[in-house]
Amino acid sequence: MPGMKEAAPDIATRLVHHAYVPPAGFEAPQPAVHKASTVIFPTVAALRSREWKDKSSYTYGLHGTPTTFTLEERLCTLEGGLQCLLAPSGLAAIAHVALALLGQGDEVLIPDNAYGPNKDLALGDLARFGIRPVFYQALDTADLAARITPATRLVWLEAPGSVTLEFPDLCEQVRICRAQGITVALDNTWGAGLAFAPFDLTGDGSYRLGVDVSVHALTKYPSGGGDVLMGSVITRDPRLHMQLKLTHMRLGLGVAANDAETVLRSLPSVALRYRAHDQAARALALWMQQQPEVAQVLHPALPGSPGHAHWKALCGAADGGQGAAAGLFSVVFDARYRQDPVDVFCDALRLFRLGYSWGGPISLVVPYQLPAMRSQPTPHLRPGRLVRFSVGLESVEALRGDLSQALAYAFRTA
Ligand SMILES: *Cc1c(COP(=O)(O)O)cnc(C)c1O
Repeated sequence: MPGMKEAAPDIATRLVHHAYVPPAGFEAPQPAVHKASTVIFPTVAALRSREWKDKSSYTYGLHGTPTTFTLEERLCTLEGGLQCLLAPSGLAAIAHVALALLGQGDEVLIPDNAYGPNKDLALGDLARFGIRPVFYQALDTADLAARITPATRLVWLEAPGSVTLEFPDLCEQVRICRAQGITVALDNTWGAGLAFAPFDLTGDGSYRLGVDVSVHALTKYPSGGGDVLMGSVITRDPRLHMQLKLTHMRLGLGVAANDAETVLRSLPSVALRYRAHDQAARALALWMQQQPEVAQVLHPALPGSPGHAHWKALCGAADGGQGAAAGLFSVVFDARYRQDPVDVFCDALRLFRLGYSWGGPISLVVPYQLPAMRSQPTPHLRPGRLVRFSVGLESVEALRGDLSQALAYAFRTA
């Protein structure tokens, strides 16, 4: 290093400007973890000429490191996208898309059964910025079409809906928006890039029909541990990506290297885990359907569940015709039960723990107060108290036993 030969005899300085560089050529199953806010440039000329907007080089930690670039590329592979931006949570990814694409006077369409905080963002901050939130019935494509106006700038889709798991006619929804030139963003957390291909909804590799933006809460299946918060924003259009990227930079969104590493570590097993969660959830959903206290089981792969035909059309061919679904299902208890015994049931579960989120090894359960979460009537849902289950990686027998003892304790003891 020029100018440093005589200097730095003291230990403090030598530990900062240390001359040792390990030999190149190291390779291991997991990529290295590069941590950086500062990125070092060799010369002023390099500092002036570095480009942060593409992945040709490095400029600053927020603009990417080898670790985040690697994760972004693998997530593009998972979802069939070409560009990816990382956000510190799934909700931050949703907010980033809204802030990048919407302005005063615009309308944003959101399914009434969307992930709740997406609606809260629209009703709170977006409305404060002069953006009008409009909620539509996800199962009624005509309702979506009817709510589009010349001011509609962005349509959110979610398949299936949060908590109530209605599966919409995603292809038709995209066609309607496309025909009017409106940007379509999908919350693809449930599908995870595994149940269907968000950018290739016809599934023939042509990319003729797909969403513009796929948002994924990596917090769920890609992390797989219940220990990381992260989100991604994936696109296939370079112009749309650049619009998102400029706002991403101005908002200062970034993710920690160790969190990126955790997701990189879990990603190779995501398809295996997804399938295991799926199979166990379906077995337990079918079993719950047989229980006398249960009025309705909501799971898109179950015949009779709202939107089942749409799920079958889009996801039914996966896994040799078994179809693919995540590890979630909800149960509506018979209307004769008030909240108390349902809460006792949830408290009595031992393996299903009480907690939000999903995608980790531990099975989770949450009782929801559904009426407060919907702005429109839900005639396709039976009246009664709703409980959502997220199935983890415990054995199906153990989980069935747990449900069975809690049902008996809450509903069948005199
Ligand atoms: C969990 C979740 C999110 C938000 O992810 P966080 O990382 O918890 O912010 C968004 N959408 C859906 C459908 C989710 O399940």
